[in-house]
Amino acid sequence: MKDDRMTDRGQLSRLRRIVVKIGTNTLTAPGGGIAHDWMQAFANDAAAIRGSGSVAARDVILVSSGAIGAGCSRMKLTARPALVPERQAVAAVGQVSLMRAWERAFDSIGLFVGQMLLTKDELNDRLQYLNARNTLSALFNYGAIPIINENDTVSTDELKIGDNDTLSAHIALLADADLLILLTDQEGLGDVNPDGSLGERISVVPELTNEVMALAGGKGSTFSVGGMGTKLQAARMATGSGIPMVIASGQRPGVLESILSGDDIGTLFPGNSQRLAARKRWIAFSVDSSGVIIVDDGARDAIVGKGKSLLAVGIRGVEGEFASGDAVMIAGLDGTPFARALVNYSSDELKIVKGMKKPAMIDALGGN
Ligand code: GLU
Repeated sequence: MKDDRMTDRGQLSRLRRIVVKIGTNTLTAPGGGIAHDWMQAFANDAAAIRGSGSVAARDVILVSSGAIGAGCSRMKLTARPALVPERQAVAAVGQVSLMRAWERAFDSIGLFVGQMLLTKDELNDRLQYLNARNTLSALFNYGAIPIINENDTVSTDELKIGDNDTLSAHIALLADADLLILLTDQEGLGDVNPDGSLGERISVVPELTNEVMALAGGKGSTFSVGGMGTKLQAARMATGSGIPMVIASGQRPGVLESILSGDDIGTLFPGNSQRLAARKRWIAFSVDSSGVIIVDDGARDAIVGKGKSLLAVGIRGVEGEFASGDAVMIAGLDGTPFARALVNYSSDELKIVKGMKKPAMIDALGGN
């Protein structure tokens, strides 16, 4: 059977909407502070793949880290503050420096940028999610380069997306991107030698097997903020939605052009051949789940094998508190989750009707 996934790098050139994540290390100059020369070279590279003029050949979205790093440098702090409000204040200062630097770099080549700061709330709430998506489309229509970061000034630890590898995967899903590129200080994902040292760069990772996921913990595999672990989680989200991903070194001049010309650099994770529909992507990866529904083997087969909806008769257990319309995980009898879904009934209702056939269920719920 023909593998129509993006395993052949030659196909990358036809991808149109590209999300690029840039880590703090890449953005930081050797002596500290923002790496302005690097930023300018990157802006030129981004403009080269975008194409000049008001109608872009490609849409480019940046997910830029570096607010806290830039804030520390601007405020002459030698370390990130340990306390949350202080760290948030540093992010507030640093985000301004960061965007000023990006605006300057793109302005010098006739492009303008638009800042979007998001939190987990916008990913969880369907309406806000769609609003963010519409804003992105409008920015593209105006020819702007959207630059996104987490709104570190308000997201507290419990409510945080947490790292920009994960944020960039959410953005790739939100924007219905064709490719996610994570720029880091490594040449890509590296094999780990039996003695624990870092081995060869892996060019293509066709499947995210347990062995591949284990490489994330490999000694010396990364020095960047999120580490390889969050990058591989991002790969799971992106490729699971049908969006290919590349991890590559931000230090390589013209890295974006090079990736899109099909050069064998970095590590390519080809997406699943099926593009998941936008709403399904949101349910599968973006919205938080509020509970778990345990189902029997028959219901599991109907959902996984035939893509059917879950009926009350197949429900064996309900965990957590949720309302109609909330997202939940669906798990088999062994407790391992295998799907996510939006429920039509609350957890209280499902606890009453679990195991019932439709007529009994209608009676039990008072005829609704
Ligand atoms: N949002 C953080 C910042 O701008 C970065 C998070 C990350 O790099 O993963 O400093």
